[in-house]
Formats: sequence, C-alpha cells, structure tokens
Amino acid sequence: MKKLLKNAYVLISADADIKKLDILVEKDRIIEIADENVDIDEDIEIYDLSNKLIIPGFINTHTHLAMSIFRGIGDDLTLKDWLFNEMFPREDLLNEEITYYGSLISILEMLSKGITTVVDMYLFMNGTAKAVKNTGIRAYLTRGLGYDNDDGWRKRIDETVYLFENYHNKNNIKIGFGPHAPYTCPMKKLEEVAELTKRYNAFTTIHLYESKNEREMYTLEDIEKTGLFKNNVIAAHCVHVDEKDIEILSRNEITVAHNPSSNLKLGNGIVPILKMLQHKINITIGTDGAASNNTLNLWEEMRIASLLQKIEGPEKFKTEEALRMIWENGGYALNEKIGRIEENYKADLAIIDLNSFEFYPNDINRLKSHIVYSPINKVYATMVNGEWVYYNGEYPKLKETDYYNKFHEKYFELERKFNEQKGNK
Ligand SMILES: [Zn+2]
Repeated sequence: MKKLLKNAYVLISADADIKKLDILVEKDRIIEIADENVDIDEDIEIYDLSNKLIIPGFINTHTHLAMSIFRGIGDDLTLKDWLFNEMFPREDLLNEEITYYGSLISILEMLSKGITTVVDMYLFMNGTAKAVKNTGIRAYLTRGLGYDNDDGWRKRIDETVYLFENYHNKNNIKIGFGPHAPYTCPMKKLEEVAELTKRYNAFTTIHLYESKNEREMYTLEDIEKTGLFKNNVIAAHCVHVDEKDIEILSRNEITVAHNPSSNLKLGNGIVPILKMLQHKINITIGTDGAASNNTLNLWEEMRIASLLQKIEGPEKFKTEEALRMIWENGGYALNEKIGRIEENYKADLAIIDLNSFEFYPNDINRLKSHIVYSPINKVYATMVNGEWVYYNGEYPKLKETDYYNKFHEKYFELERKFNEQKGNK
C-alpha cells in the first residue's frame, strides 16, 4: 500500500528552501513529490502531517551499537587506558545475547532521534544483525578485525564471510570489512582486507589517527601501499592528520567520519575540518559508541561539529555544510540513494513536530538553523525503506517488550564477571 504524507513542511536537501509539499511513498521508495494534491486511489494510506517538518533521515557513519552496555564506564581516561583497561577486558566477556540487547537499545535511541542509517563495527555481529532486523534501521555492519595470532585473525575473517552469506542485502543490511585500526591490524593484514573488500565489492571502515601517539605507529603512506584505499573506505576520526595526510585522504577519495564528542571526551582533539573541506574531502558525522560519547544523539554531534569550526571564524563553516555532512555526504559515502528527499530515492525520513520548544519560532526561514543549532531530543516519527520504524513514541516493527529487564540483566551479569576477574588478578 502506498503512503501519502500530506500537509507537512519539507526540507528536501541541505541546500534547498523549506516548502509545503506532499510526498508519496511506494514500497521502499519516494515515488512522487508534489506541491499540489497528488492523485488519490484506493490503495493509499493518508497521513495528515500538519505542523510537522519532514527532513531526510540522519546518517550515522560511525558507531559501535552494542556498546550502550558500556555507557558510563571510564569517564575520565585517555583512549589507551579506556580501551585497554576498561573496554577490551569487558569485550572478552561479550556474547551474542549481550550484543543483541546492547544494539537494540542503541538502535531504539537512534530511531527516536530520526537516525535512519548506521555504520557499525563490532563483535558478535549476529546479535547486532538480529537487532537491526527486529527494529528496521538501515545498517552497514562490519565484524571488527584485529590481530592477535593467525588463528584469531582467520576466525574473524571467517565470521565476516559468514555475515556476507547470511545477512548481506537482506533486512536493510549491507556487510563490509572492519579492520579496527592500523595499530591492531598489521599492514600485511590490511593487504588481505584490501583484496577481500575488492573481491566482495564491499566497503571498509577503519579508525585512523584517532589519538596523537598513533603518529608514531604508522603512516598513511604505509596504508596506501596495502591497496586498502583503492576501495570505498570510511575512516573514523582522522584527528591527528597533517597537510600531507589530508592530501593522501583526498587523492584516495576517503570519506572521513567525524566524531566530535568522542574526540573531545577522550581528549583526542579537534579534527581540521576546514582544511579537509578545502581538499574536497567527503566528511560525514558519527556518534561513535555510547561508551565514549555517551549519547547517540547525532543532532548534538552536528551542533558540536559546527561550533568547533567557529573557532576559525563564524563565517567559515556554514549551516548547509553541517546538513550535507549528516545527509548527502553519508549517502555518497555509502553509494546509496539516501540523504535527500527526491523521487526514486529510498524513503528514509525523519518527521519533526514543530510544536517542540526548540523549534520556536516556527518561521520557515528559521527552521534550518533550528535543525543544526537547536537539537531536539525526540522526533515525531522515523521512516526507513518506506516503513514506519518509530511513530509517536512507539516502535511499530518491534515485537519485543521486555528489553528493559533483559538489557539490565545482561549488564549486571557482565559487570559482576568483570569485577570477579579483576579481583582474581
Ligand atoms: Zn569507534
């Protein structure tokens, strides 16, 4: 059945003006956008969205969904201490059930904020894939790859291949490769990932130069030589890059996933976004995981990303630039028709109730500014692939109701085990 979204204000893309438009959705796509009434036949559901604003769904290009289970751990630590003393030992205790509930909670939070697409890298991805299927978000999933020994490495590659065979191109899921970082994956292994990414015609996502000390561990030239950059790559963070690195990222058309809150919280620094833009780098925004952010609010990320660039002069970073980072640039990075409201694009939409205090005054000339600088906590509705995945506080696709108890059961069990282990050392 078709869906007609009527009487709403619509912002079709970062550079457009806001107008009253009707949007007709059939199956997974937008099939018509009209400023007059579209033809109504019997096979149509009509939604009166008066006093609402429809915008493209937000694209979160870097996160670790299951990590909501670790939210609030290690607040005042460096990346190294946080990762090696708090995260890695806990990750040894994970299983598929925990990653399911962690991912589920993260996705529910994101859908309530109008995030329609997510790029994930983590462990026990079967659990995450199940949470994606049960909620309806669009997801690009990668099994995090790191090297301990050849057997461990092989197991992780096999798990990735298993994900391709079982989840790729089903339930809004696409699978890719997720080498964690050059300091956990030696160059020889990145060569292998480069070949596999090509063979599977997939994407790769990797953490690059997140912290300063990584500059002593590898160079982007080393990575370029592995062939990894010949593929479609989303590089998370890229905080500590110099002019030469920016040139390498640019000539290889690498997308940068900018995670400002996480970079600030872990004390890693500020990404030179303006310099990257001068080199025409495709920049997108990510929340990173809830363990280092700690919210999964892409509205906040967009706002902080914008404010940080104001240091160089308030006129240097425009409102539209921030919106492109959260919409079109994400669609471009993922090679998918998302991030714009256009005929034949995927129907991935976020709907805002204009009767939200953050959006006063409801002057159409002010609304773009509100989106970037006045983040709201919850949207009215979220649509992915033509289906409502969040509507007026409810999750229409989700059958499960007991997630509150299950999540906390898993969380307290894991913390008990972690503390026991620590006591035994
Ligand atoms: Zn990350």
